[in-house]
Amino acid sequence: MGGDRGMQAEKLLEIKEVIRRSYNVKSFRLAAPEWIDFSAGQFLMVALGDDPGLKRYLSISSSPTEKGYLEFTKKITQSGFSSALDRLKPGDSVKVRYPFGSFTLQDSPHKIAFLSGGIGITPVRSMCKYAVDKNIGKDIVLIYANRSMRDIVFADDFSALSAAYPLLRLVHVLCEAEPGFKCSTGQIDAGLIRKEVPDYMDRRFYLCGPPQMVAAMRAILEKELGLDKGLIVTENFQGY
Ligand SMILES: Cc1cc2nc3c(=O)[nH]c(=O)nc-3n(C[C@H](O)[C@H](O)[C@H](O)COP(=O)(O)OP(=O)(O)OC[C@H]3O[C@@H](n4cnc5c(N)ncnc54)[C@H](O)[C@@H]3O)c2cc1C
Repeated sequence: MGGDRGMQAEKLLEIKEVIRRSYNVKSFRLAAPEWIDFSAGQFLMVALGDDPGLKRYLSISSSPTEKGYLEFTKKITQSGFSSALDRLKPGDSVKVRYPFGSFTLQDSPHKIAFLSGGIGITPVRSMCKYAVDKNIGKDIVLIYANRSMRDIVFADDFSALSAAYPLLRLVHVLCEAEPGFKCSTGQIDAGLIRKEVPDYMDRRFYLCGPPQMVAAMRAILEKELGLDKGLIVTENFQGY
């Protein structure tokens, strides 16, 4: 997680739309100017009032190619922040600062692999949407791990993206098989990466999710698969 958290101006933006993504995940689309300065994969700070306990860092789940709004997507938990967010409706406003972070696509000859768990999909959705809209011409594989099907978010978006851009391949991983749903089962481990991404040595890996998951993925890539540290980019969702 990089970026200078002191330089970004605070803006008050109006909520245009609230989208339910799953039983416990919601996206909030904020009205934004036509030209928004951020890179796919970066995050923002959302404040719901002046109480410092009501501030969170959240990835931007929209892409710079989607004009007129800025979207973030939050897992609604039992926290005070989540409850306050859950009550917000179109027409309400939130304070935001952005952009932060360096979990972004880089200019390189490498193909791309995303390893993402649960709500850690948010910046990956932004980067995949950007890559497809800009037709970057790179091969992308996304391994997306969830407990069960009901935890998957952006399923329709990813289906549409892979249909529009055949170089994007999505591999779902669930704890247990679901009838009629194509997925691997268990956890993301070295065996699964070897099977699903046989050309893993030719790729830059982007890892995003809870810190424990990101650390485990990094260990697999570096220690078991011998990937160069420089080819691993991470974002830790501290707080999960
Ligand atoms: C760069 C970045 C991007 C993120 N993007 C997303 C996103 O797109 N969607 C999303 O749902 N979440 C995202 N998160 C996580 C988010 O900021 C919250 O930490 C998380 O949603 C939990 O907040 P809560 O209000 O639901 O629960 P809380 O009850 O506030 O959090 C649960 C526990 O985590 C602790 N905690 C909360 N925040 C932090 C923190 N920053 N550091 C250490 N401990 C903490 C609390 O003390 C508590 O014990 C991101 C985090 C980071 C750092």
